[in-house]
Amino acid sequence: MKTIDHWIGGTAVEGASGAYGPVYNPATGAQDTRVALASTAEVDVAVAAAKEAYREWRHVSLSRRTAILYRYRELLDAHRDEIAALITAEHGKVHSDALGEVARGLEIVELACAISHKLKGELSTEVSSGVDVASIRQPLGVVAGITPFNFPAMVPLWMFPVAIACGNTFVLKPSEKDPSAAIRLAELAAEAGLPAGVLNVVNGDKVAVDRLLEHPDVAAVSFVGSTPIARYIQSRAIEHGKRVQALGGAKNHMLVLPDADLDVAADNAINAAYGSAGERCMAVSVVVAVGDIGDDLVKKIADRATALRIGPGTDPASEMGPLITREHRDKVASYVHSAREQGAEVVVDGTGLTVEGYPEGFFIGVSLLDKVPVSADAYRDEIFGPVLCVVRAETYDEAIELINSSRWGNGTAIFTRDGGAARRFQLEVEAGMVGVNVPIPVPVGYHSFGGWKDSLFGDHHIYGNDGVHFYTRGKVVTTRWPDPSDGGINLGFPRNH
Ligand code: NAD
Repeated sequence: MKTIDHWIGGTAVEGASGAYGPVYNPATGAQDTRVALASTAEVDVAVAAAKEAYREWRHVSLSRRTAILYRYRELLDAHRDEIAALITAEHGKVHSDALGEVARGLEIVELACAISHKLKGELSTEVSSGVDVASIRQPLGVVAGITPFNFPAMVPLWMFPVAIACGNTFVLKPSEKDPSAAIRLAELAAEAGLPAGVLNVVNGDKVAVDRLLEHPDVAAVSFVGSTPIARYIQSRAIEHGKRVQALGGAKNHMLVLPDADLDVAADNAINAAYGSAGERCMAVSVVVAVGDIGDDLVKKIADRATALRIGPGTDPASEMGPLITREHRDKVASYVHSAREQGAEVVVDGTGLTVEGYPEGFFIGVSLLDKVPVSADAYRDEIFGPVLCVVRAETYDEAIELINSSRWGNGTAIFTRDGGAARRFQLEVEAGMVGVNVPIPVPVGYHSFGGWKDSLFGDHHIYGNDGVHFYTRGKVVTTRWPDPSDGGINLGFPRNH
């Protein structure tokens, strides 16, 4: 049995709590790995290492920080395949998809390489005679990141490269379901020359998270995960006086207007609904078919869905891998069953799938549900699996009202050839990320990522300019270098002339 430990103070540290969590290979169902679950005392050791490292790291020059980040970028690039293989082994997604995840994470390292541009500050000269005012941004100190299972490399990379580029030190608590990628990211950062203690990884569960949330030396918390936990993280972190951004779950709608190219729309619906087995916070889980295109569109999606090749992520022929755990697979299947009872038409039922040679794997086929009532659990909940709901709407107005009445507002997309309708949609829709003929509009690294409503708790989106703002705080310095003749007593409030 392989054990995954912690990475603290620039070195691997064995778990000392005696508690371990199982890490499965979702394709085989075997548990050949376990992960150490940190005690509060072990979290304290990691925070202390980060606090100690912060004393020097905050003063390390921008050019040295970026030199390390450039080396890190090169090392990640050289190890893409290896990191992707770690992701596939523990998460289950197919290798090409895991490579895509690493590539999107790399984008944020590239953003961090350009941090000197983002930290330039502002200067106004002669605001009063001989007086200059500068606005600068400074690091916060020790910041923590808590990340979900579905992007074990990309989501940590959304956080720590920006945080450390800004001069903070970092304690990462990755998902206990697939922790190996995070440890490898930390090892490579050390190889790139990142000083010990600047990036630490503590593995663990709620015990570790709760300690990070209450620890007096943690200044800020970035969280990505499900909505109930995001809400909890935000309130606990605020209670303990911390800055917090907590990204939650989603139910992303793709609106298809009657003038859309239905083949293109069907291709995109398939890719966005079933890629990574639907375990993406930006997955399309609802298609809203407007007007009389519903039957055609559903047929086109169904034809494509039944042709998908499902198998282990290590097989280059597989287009979709297994789900993360057996329990999750069974829960996803239960939504397909309940949808039928609650009035949906099950056009494609993937729940009975078995994959030859992998009888114990956590596989499920893809499912397509049509005419799903908005009261059905399959519509109301985030399923986080390869289940696509289709809802019919008579008009654009009915469709937008449906989308805007969702409690989530992460991503959304419109498929149309009508520029006016697309423009209206982007202004009217209540979601943080909008795609126009783009089904998964994950912003590039230099724009920020974040949803609205129950998809994000906090004011800052993640990475891009918002990331830099989140990991720094402002300071305004007013300066005068007086001549002896400038003296004199004046108790009046200073005026700018
Ligand atoms: P999760 O909320 O179960 O876990 C996320 C993290 O929180 C993990 O590190 C976990 O150890 C920790 N955690 C879990 N339960 C906790 C508790 N009771 N107290 C304290 N900490 C706890 O999420 P997940 O299942 O790993 O990931 C899937 C979810 O993440 C989906 O809802 C998905 O939409 C969401 N997600 C959102 C985004 C986004 O950007 N909005 C991105 C990726 C994933």
